[in-house]
Amino acid sequence: MMGPSHALSGATAWLAGTWALDHFAGYEQSPLAIAVGTLVCAGGALLPDLDLSGKVTRNQGGATVARTFGVFSLFAAEVIEKISLGIYTATRLSRDPRRTNGHRTFTHTLPFAALVGWGTTWLSGHYGKWAVVGIVFFMAGLALRGLFDKWAERAGWVIVTICSAVIAMFTAANLPGDRGYPMLGFAVAVGCVVHLLGDIITSAGVPILWPIPTGRRLWRMVGVPNSMAVRVGGKVETVVLRTAFVVISLLAIAGIFAPGLLQHIELQAWADNSGR
Ligand SMILES: [Zn+2]
Repeated sequence: MMGPSHALSGATAWLAGTWALDHFAGYEQSPLAIAVGTLVCAGGALLPDLDLSGKVTRNQGGATVARTFGVFSLFAAEVIEKISLGIYTATRLSRDPRRTNGHRTFTHTLPFAALVGWGTTWLSGHYGKWAVVGIVFFMAGLALRGLFDKWAERAGWVIVTICSAVIAMFTAANLPGDRGYPMLGFAVAVGCVVHLLGDIITSAGVPILWPIPTGRRLWRMVGVPNSMAVRVGGKVETVVLRTAFVVISLLAIAGIFAPGLLQHIELQAWADNSGR
C-alpha cells in the first residue's frame, strides 16, 4: 500500500480497537489518550517503510515517510536501509537470495514491531516527559504526512515539523504517565503490525515468519497470491479500502463517544424536568 493508506489503516485499527476495548471490556480512555494513540498508531503504520530512502519513484510509500522531516529523514532512511541490509546479510540462510537493498527486511518483521514498541515504552518510562516529547513529535510528523498527504505536500516539511512539535508539547504536558506511556509503545507496535498486514495483501510480501527458518530460508517473503492481491495505488486501494477505513473510523468514534454524549443529554433533560 502507499503511505496514506498505511497511515489510515493504522488510525482505523487503533480506533476500532479502542471501541472494542471500551464496549466489550469496559476499558475507557480519555479523549486525549484516544487522539494521541490514534496518531501514534497511524505514524507507527508508516514506520517500517523508513527503510526506503528517497531514491524511489515519487509518491511510493517509502518516499512519503522518508520525506517527513526533509533531508534529515531521507538520511535516516538511508542509514536504516543499510542496517537492515546488514542484518539480512548476517542472518540469511543458503536458500535466501543475495540482496543489495534492505527494503522490506528487518523493519518488516514482528520482532522489529515488538522492539520499537518496547523501546518506546521503556524510553517514556525512563526519561519521562522529554522522551514523550521526542516520540510524539516524531510519530505525529509521520502521521500528519500520511493522513493529510495533500496538505503536507503543500505546506512543506517546516510546517509539518512545527505542527508535530505543538502536538508533542501538548501531549507531554497533559498525558498521564501511568497508563499513557505504556499505551504509546503499544500504539507504535500495533501500527507496525498493521503495516505488515497492508504489505501482505498487496502481494509484495513481507518476512513475517522471521526469525523462524523454513526450508533453509530465514527470510521467506509471505504475501497473498498475485491473483488475489490488491494492486499498489490501484482503485481498490485508493477508493475501496480507504473509504472502508474512513467509514470504520467514523463508526468507531461514534461508538466511543455517542453513548456518553447521549447519557449527558438525557441527564440534562432529566435535570431540566425535575427542576421545573
Ligand atoms: Zn512496507
